[in-house]
Amino acid sequence: MEAVRTLSWDRSRCDFCGTCVGVCPADAIIVDVSDWVVDGERCTGCGDCIAVCPYRALSFGEQDGAD
Ligand code: SF4
Ligand code: SF4
Repeated sequence: MEAVRTLSWDRSRCDFCGTCVGVCPADAIIVDVSDWVVDGERCTGCGDCIAVCPYRALSFGEQDGAD
């Protein structure tokens, strides 16, 4: 199984601005007024959403495909 970079979201930092949704080339992110969800099946791990988040609410967690 190939290594997977898992996207982590920090609720305490997120302002629900939706900027990450706009840049995601895979349409993998859904944001509403109180929640943020990424579709792991769609996410390619490109990191674009992390780069644009003005509040640094997104990051890659460490996961090496252990399961
Ligand atoms: S860009 Fe950052 S602050 Fe804005 S909705 Fe996405 S995760 Fe939240
Ligand atoms: S890492 Fe890339 S594909 Fe995954 S949610 Fe962020 S912008 Fe979309």
